[in-house]
Amino acid sequence: MSAHLIDGKAIAARLRERVAACVARLKAEQGIVPGLAVVLVGNDPASTVYVRNKGIQTIAAGMASFEHKLPAETTQAELLALIAQLNADPAVHGILVQLPLPLHIDADAVINAINPAKDVDGFHVTNVGLLATGQRSIVPCTPLGCLMLLREHFGNLVGRNAVVIGRSNIVGKPVVQLLLRESCTVTIAHSRTERLPTICRRADILIAAVGRAEMITGDFIKPGAVVIDVGINQIERGGQVRLVGDVERESAAEIADAMTPVPGGVGPMTIACLLANTVTACCRH
Ligand code: NAD
Repeated sequence: MSAHLIDGKAIAARLRERVAACVARLKAEQGIVPGLAVVLVGNDPASTVYVRNKGIQTIAAGMASFEHKLPAETTQAELLALIAQLNADPAVHGILVQLPLPLHIDADAVINAINPAKDVDGFHVTNVGLLATGQRSIVPCTPLGCLMLLREHFGNLVGRNAVVIGRSNIVGKPVVQLLLRESCTVTIAHSRTERLPTICRRADILIAAVGRAEMITGDFIKPGAVVIDVGINQIERGGQVRLVGDVERESAAEIADAMTPVPGGVGPMTIACLLANTVTACCRH
């Protein structure tokens, strides 16, 4: 058996088309152009690439992109002043601060300084609390992308056993909240979980958000399960640098019914959901 690969690229492309159509309508009917401000502090290579891609896709969807690239030695006070300025700017409907921030800056203080209505990453405590209590919120992009991929595959998720590996604030925990909202039975596993393969083998839906290259092999997977691989890990193989997920593709594909590839699975959904969140923030505004 070889698992069906869930095509995140194609699903993300369709979402971007819907976003672009919505943006065109907002422009034509109300003269409003949704605007996304992305703030990058320092020159981390991966973050620089992410920010560039976000800018390109924002413009491609017909929205306004405002990039703020600050030096690594920017103080927290300077960054907070920029956030205050973006909060007050009517042309900016979404604000994203690229993480990680340099260590001398308190990331929580910065995220919580963003107006929750413009917090298109969904990391502000207000949005986290709204999501956890089942109220309307802005939902973090990668978890939202995972949910869309699952809905595309299953339609209805009610009653499915889901195991989420990883308990980070940006992926694991919000994924758990979204799956609960869909009435899945959810187990959250992490670095201190015992008998991880046994727990994972109970899952109809297995979501790996660990950050360890190819850690999840076929032994962790229940026959017929659907596996969502959030991990993005750089490894060197055969003298070449390659991107791989947290799931070991060959052995997993022997057991799973469907799985997301890396690259081309969750990654493209993350940016598409960011664009969707920006339009949503603009419409609610
Ligand atoms: P993180 O380091 O904040 O969290 C990792 C989680 O994995 C922790 O909760 C930890 O308890 C758990 N963990 C670590 N080792 C484990 C082990 N041996 N067994 C079980 N659990 C273990 O990472 P994160 O920010 O949540 O990101 C996870 C992965 O997802 C990374 O590879 C990251 O690059 C990727 N990511 C991808 C996207 C995307 O758009 N595709 C977005 C965000 C993160």
